[in-house]
Amino acid sequence: MIPILVAALAALAASSCSERPAATAAAPTAPSPTETSAAGRPPVFVVAFTHIEDNTPAGVLGAAATRAAYANVRSALVDLAQRTSRNGVPWSLQPDWKLLEAALLYEDAAMTANTGGVTLLRYLRDTLGARIDPHSHENGGYNYPDVAYLLDRLGVGGSTVIGGHIWDPALPQFQGWDRFRAPVAGLHYPSAAWRGDILMGSGTPNHVNDPVVSGVWRPRDRSRYFEDDPSGNITAIGAFRNGLAGIAELVALNASGRVPPSCLLTASIHLPPRDFLAAGGGALENTIIAPLAAERARGTIELTDFTTLVSTWRQRFGARACVFDGQRLTIVP
Ligand SMILES: [Zn+2]
Repeated sequence: MIPILVAALAALAASSCSERPAATAAAPTAPSPTETSAAGRPPVFVVAFTHIEDNTPAGVLGAAATRAAYANVRSALVDLAQRTSRNGVPWSLQPDWKLLEAALLYEDAAMTANTGGVTLLRYLRDTLGARIDPHSHENGGYNYPDVAYLLDRLGVGGSTVIGGHIWDPALPQFQGWDRFRAPVAGLHYPSAAWRGDILMGSGTPNHVNDPVVSGVWRPRDRSRYFEDDPSGNITAIGAFRNGLAGIAELVALNASGRVPPSCLLTASIHLPPRDFLAAGGGALENTIIAPLAAERARGTIELTDFTTLVSTWRQRFGARACVFDGQRLTIVP
């Protein structure tokens, strides 16, 4: 067993962008670091991220109470980013539109006094090393290109990560990821255009039936989402099972010798707002952030962000598609 991972499991909260059920997988028996390195396997690539939903900050934009709510969210985000930064854990913040409209309203001299006069998202990115991608439920009259546009206006744009989407075309909430094969216009800001090309968090509403998938591939089409199309211009990253147990499972698989070295295994793990907005990030530092850093120190995982992960897949793994669904490993030659 990996002691720190197992210890952390007990405290692991259910997470993801809304009410995701707790990870149910038991921690598998993992090999010692010596066995792992002897196998000559590349590490499992893991991304830690946070979604800020379109109900945050609470309240009507422009109201005094909303400014106070925004200030609280702001402090909590800075606190969490300080904790990821001091552990050397890359952290990807993926906000929906409301936080960004609030930032445009409220990031004035008084608000930025405790971040050296620097606005929140710039401070998180430039001082504390956070990566910033769009997240959008495409509600409230805002779509992904609107969120990307707001990030541009706040000086932290440029990401082409589609930070979570409903992947199943049979569901009414299906978000039509294949729209992004060409640039898409904003809804709230129709003159904005954006083409996202990296899908993470292929989900279902409220995460009740999320697919279990690790690896990187280019979805073929709506009905063959989990097949790789080498000519596809959108790449997907498998989240596997949210939580440290899923990561331990992949580390064990990696060490088993069943995975060819050309095959990149991936997982993402959510640092959920409800675990840090009210109480600060101290608990998450103990349950997720520090355990991830300790696991990386063993050489069994590498911590990264979604954009870098796709570059790594192209440059070091020859863009070979390889998908593990928890039982079966599918490799596209
Ligand atoms: Zn969400």
